[in-house]
Amino acid sequence: MAAGLRGCGVELDDKGFVLTGQGVAGQPQSAVLSLETSLPRVFAIGDVRSSSIKRVAAAVGEGAAVVAQIHSALSALSASHQPRGSRVAGSAD
Ligand SMILES: Cc1cc2nc3c(=O)[nH]c(=O)nc-3n(C[C@H](O)[C@H](O)[C@H](O)COP(=O)(O)OP(=O)(O)OC[C@H]3O[C@@H](n4cnc5c(N)ncnc54)[C@H](O)[C@@H]3O)c2cc1C
Repeated sequence: MAAGLRGCGVELDDKGFVLTGQGVAGQPQSAVLSLETSLPRVFAIGDVRSSSIKRVAAAVGEGAAVVAQIHSALSALSASHQPRGSRVAGSAD
């Protein structure tokens, strides 16, 4: 199915669909968002995603849902790159 994705680094299932969320191996489940692939901050939605319902409405819904997950991932990334001096006053470090 997603043969063009082989070699991109995202983990695929045995049929070539992109694994996301709990389907991703090798990472703590809490660390992977439900539409996130095995590559951090790389997301998959719609027909190409393993276990997705192959319907237009499902693909559109996942497209809407992934926006919040992207915001969440970017916020976490931004927080992890905060210079020490810009953290909330009173924090331990
Ligand atoms: C014959 C048929 C009938 C269907 N009938 C229905 C129906 O009645 N009702 C229903 O709900 N669903 C139906 N479906 C399913 C529905 O079409 C899909 O679930 C839906 O289109 C999935 O949307 P998507 O955006 O995930 O993928 P797609 O609509 O397949 O969009 C993926 C896009 O990515 C492009 N692309 C692929 N590779 C690359 C690349 N390397 N670089 C750039 N672009 C790339 C493709 O050209 C395509 O435009 C039908 C599917 C088929 C095949």
